[in-house]
Amino acid sequence: MSNPYEPLNVDTIGEKLGHLEILQEKVGPDSSTWTAQEVGDGNLNLVFIVTGPSGQAIVKQALPYVRLVGDSWPLPLKRAFFEYHALTRQAKYAPEDVPEVYHFDESQALIVMQFMSPHVILRNSLKDGVQHKNLAEVAGKFCARTLFRGSDLSMDTMQRKKDLALFADNIELCDITENLVFTDPYYDAEMNRHTSPQLDGIVASLRADIDLKVATQHLKAKFCNNAETLLHGDLHTGSIMVTETDTVVIDPEFATYGPIGFDIGMLLGNFYMAFFAQDGHESEKGARDDYAQWILDVTCDIWHHFEEEFSHLWRTERNGILYDQRLYEDQNQNLASEQALADRLNDIWTDLLGFAGVEMHRRILGLAHIMELDSIEDVDQRAACEARALHFGRQLVISRAAYKSPHQIAELARAVRKDN
Ligand code: ADP
Ligand code: MG
Ligand code: MG
Ligand code: MG
Repeated sequence: MSNPYEPLNVDTIGEKLGHLEILQEKVGPDSSTWTAQEVGDGNLNLVFIVTGPSGQAIVKQALPYVRLVGDSWPLPLKRAFFEYHALTRQAKYAPEDVPEVYHFDESQALIVMQFMSPHVILRNSLKDGVQHKNLAEVAGKFCARTLFRGSDLSMDTMQRKKDLALFADNIELCDITENLVFTDPYYDAEMNRHTSPQLDGIVASLRADIDLKVATQHLKAKFCNNAETLLHGDLHTGSIMVTETDTVVIDPEFATYGPIGFDIGMLLGNFYMAFFAQDGHESEKGARDDYAQWILDVTCDIWHHFEEEFSHLWRTERNGILYDQRLYEDQNQNLASEQALADRLNDIWTDLLGFAGVEMHRRILGLAHIMELDSIEDVDQRAACEARALHFGRQLVISRAAYKSPHQIAELARAVRKDN
C-alpha cells in the first residue's frame, strides 16, 4: 500500500525520503545530515535541492493546484507521471540533454532527479546579457532527436499507439495550453493582464483583428489535431538550464502528442521576446546591440542544427510507419525521399513561425508573462518593447508562409526594433 499524498517541506524531506538508497548514495547515507531548500520559481510545482555530505539531488513534487494562482485552481497530481514518462523518453531519444531520473513515486507525485549544477536558467542569462556556447547546437539537436524519434517516422505502429494512449490522459495540462496559449490572449479573458494603459490600444486592435483570430485558430487546430510526435510541451527559455558550455532541458510535464513545429516554435518565440526586451536592460543606448544580435544568431543556428539533425535522422533512422523505405530507397528513388523531407521541413518551418507568434502574444497579454519583459522598470520602456514584440508576433502568425529562412525573420526583427 502506498501512503496517501502529502506535500513535502524542507523539514520533512529527510524523514520521508531518507530510506531511498539512491538518495543515500547521491546525498549521504544519513538523512539527518541532509538539508533542503525550496527553489521552485516555476508556476506549478514544488522543487527542492537536497544537500548532504555526498552531494545534491533535486526533488520535484506536484501540488494539487496551480502554484501561481493558488488552491482556487485545482490541477491533478498525475502531471508528475507524465513528466516522469516524458523524461525517460527524452533520455532515450536525446541522452545527455536531460537530467537523469533517480526515482519516481506516483502516489506522492514526486520525481527525484539529478541536480544540474552550476547550471542557471537560460531566461536569467537572456535578461542579464550572458552568452552561452553550444546552446543553439544542443537545443536544435534536442528538438530534432526528440521530435523525430517520438514520431511515426521512427516508431512502429504498436509502440506509437501505446504511447499516444498513455499521453492522451495529460488532459488538464493540454487544456491549459489550448486556452492560455491559443485562446485567452485574443479576447478579454479573466486571468489576462497586460501593461496598461500603454498597450490598451494595440491590445484592442489585436482582439479586433479578424485575420489574426482566424490564423491563430488554424494554429490551435494544428496543435489539437496533429498528433505528429511527443512534444516537450513547455519548451520556453525557463525550461532550459545552461552553463558557459553545457545545455540541458527540464520540466516536460506538459508532454503531449502534437505538431513537430510546436516546441521549436515556442522556443524561438521566447528568444525573439528576449531580443525585443534588450532595449529595456541597456545601461546606455546601444549597450545591448551585440547581445541582441547574438540572440538572433542563436535562433538561426537552432534552426540550422534542427534541420541538419532532422535530415540526418530522416536518412539514417526512418524505420517507422511513414515514408516507407520500400517505396523510396529500395526502388533507387532517393530523390523521392529527399523531396518528401524538404516538404516536411518546409511545413515544420511554417508551423513553427505561427506557434512562435502566438507564444509571444500570450506571454504579453495572457496570464503567464516572462521575466525579461516584466523586469523592465520603466513602464513606458517596457510597453514599447512589448508593443514591438506583439507587432512582430502578429507578422509571424499572419505571414508565416511568406518567410523562408530564420535569417529573413532576424531581418524582420531588426527592422521592427528600429522602426517602432
Ligand atoms: P515548474 O514545473 O514548477 O515550472 P521546474 O521544473 O521548471 O518547475 O523547476 C523550477 C526551478 O527549479 C527551475 O527554474 C530551476 O531553477 C530548478 N530546477 C528544476 N529542476 C532542476 C534540476 N534538475 N537541477 C537544478 N535545478 C532545477
Ligand atoms: Mg518550469
Ligand atoms: Mg549535455
Ligand atoms: Mg513545469
